[in-house]
Formats: sequence, C-alpha cells, structure tokens
Amino acid sequence: MSSALTVLQKEMRGCRMCLEAGYAITPGAVFQGTAGARVMLIGQAPGYTEVEAKRPFNAGSGQRLFAWLGAAGWAEQEFRRRHYMTSVTKCYPGRSANGKGDRVPSKAEQQLCRPYLEREMALVNPRVVIPGGGLAIKLFYAARLRLKDIIGTAAYIPPAVLAQGNKFTLLGAYRFLATFDPQRPENGRWVVPLPHPSGASLWPNRPENKALIQQAVELLAEMRAVWQL
Ligand code: SF4
Repeated sequence: MSSALTVLQKEMRGCRMCLEAGYAITPGAVFQGTAGARVMLIGQAPGYTEVEAKRPFNAGSGQRLFAWLGAAGWAEQEFRRRHYMTSVTKCYPGRSANGKGDRVPSKAEQQLCRPYLEREMALVNPRVVIPGGGLAIKLFYAARLRLKDIIGTAAYIPPAVLAQGNKFTLLGAYRFLATFDPQRPENGRWVVPLPHPSGASLWPNRPENKALIQQAVELLAEMRAVWQL
C-alpha cells in the first residue's frame, strides 16, 4: 500500500502547475528521501543536471554542500540514504535572463509550490531542518535578517508551536534562537541554516563567513552525534 508520502511524491513528479501558469520551467520535480528521515535539507530549486540525474544537489552545488555535511560527519551516500532533500520549488527554473546561473523562481512559483513543501514537512516531520541558501532561509526567517545574523545559529521550535501547524512554524524560527540543548523535548524541531552552496556564491569564501559556516557545521555534528542522525 502506498504511504501518504509516496502519494505526495507521485503528485509532485506529475505537477505542471508552473508550466500551466506560463513559467518556463522544466517539469519533473526533484527531491529524495523517505518518511523515516530525521533531517530535511531544503534548497532553492534544482539545476538542470539534477533534473537529468533525478536527484538533488547532484552537481557543483552538491560538492560544496557535501563538503560541509561531510565535516559534520555525514558521507554523501549516507546522507542521501538516510535523510530528506527537497527545495522551495521542485522543478528546474531555467537560466537567468542575464545568463549568470539559474533563474531564481518567482514569488508566484514559490507560492504554487509551497503547499508541497508544507505537506513534505508534515509527513516527514524532521527533527532537524537545514534551509540551504537565501530562498529557503526566508521560509523561516524575516527577509530583513542577513546571512551573517543567521548562519552559525540554531533555532528550536517547541512542540506546542509545531502543533499550531507548519505554516506558522515555517515563518517564525528567528523568535526561537537557542543554544543547542539535546535535553529539549524531542518532538520539537531544530533549524540550522547553511548558505547557498552554489560555486557561484562568493559569500562562503570570505574568512569571517567561513567561521560562521564552521559554527553551523559544528552544531550539525553535535546533533548528529547526540541523536545518531
Ligand atoms: S515547481 Fe512545484 S508547483 Fe511548480 S510545477 Fe514544479 S512541482 Fe509543480
């Protein structure tokens, strides 16, 4: 019998809503993972090679991402096998008009795809969420906050807040900044953001930002070790 998550995943793979709304995406939603995952990584949108390979973070951005996750203790194949990888919008958005990298999905596309992410979040119910890059981070944190304010921090969403629904909890993480404490109730959720891992992003190269990324990696390493994620 199909689980609710496999039903949702089939629905996402068949979705053409953005195409039908006039956006030049390449359909075929890209994501990876099962309901048993305890960590959910949320990227911006897949690139073309991800669509071809049908797996997230397949190419250049994956190298940098898996270097960070590797430093936290996860081998790439282990992370792919055990955890869940998805994105704000799930289809390839095409190249940007200026030819520099891929197009950032419009707000309308993000809105169209948002219910899928909320349903994934509800069905997987991850203990740790890693929003990777500005677009995913804005799901959790106010737009006025800068990466330097957020990378290297952790937020803990208490169970009572999660119980109010994922829509709310997607938006309010900064209110719950916390020092990592494994004794917090395990049915709460930790959020540990990372910057966009694309090689085109220069932010991670600056020494002061490398130190923030290192803090994020150390937080993830601690969570992985304590809970055997
Ligand atoms: S990006 Fe999301 S909403 Fe748009 S077509 Fe793909 S799955 Fe559907």
